[in-house]
Amino acid sequence: MKIGIGYDVHKFAQERKLILGGVEIPYRLGLLGHSDADVLVHAVIDAILGAAKLGDIGRLFPDTDASYKDISSLKLLSEAGHILYKEGYSIENIDCIICAEAPKIAPYALEMERNIANALNIPPDTVGVKGKTEEGLGFTGRGEGISAQAVCLIEKRGEPRFLKT
Ligand SMILES: [Zn+2]
Repeated sequence: MKIGIGYDVHKFAQERKLILGGVEIPYRLGLLGHSDADVLVHAVIDAILGAAKLGDIGRLFPDTDASYKDISSLKLLSEAGHILYKEGYSIENIDCIICAEAPKIAPYALEMERNIANALNIPPDTVGVKGKTEEGLGFTGRGEGISAQAVCLIEKRGEPRFLKT
């Protein structure tokens, strides 16, 4: 078994949609980014890739590549999942935190969990999403942006990579 960690930050901007975990949340601001700026899904992608040491989101899906402009991050998550599965790994569970002063995350958490699980083709009860405020402290506390953290536990199925002969 191996564990990976992912972290991401996006700042708020006018006239952008707020997409978190693939859910469009009604709010006066959205997040700035090349793709749909789904900060939660980006953290999950880095946790998955990091667990298997398969690189990171910036290396696999560079923001200089025009084909990723405004793309749904759930599609990138599916791609990351395929890369992981090809290496013989399976995902045991994923746990995430979204740090945002506003909006409230709880009403949308279940739908985010389902979206992430669907994109990776894993059971919904293996994905956890929770929201936190930072008590008015720091950039999330001041409402300047949103950060997200994720951990992912993976297991290698099949043959070990280093067999002694
Ligand atoms: Zn990002």
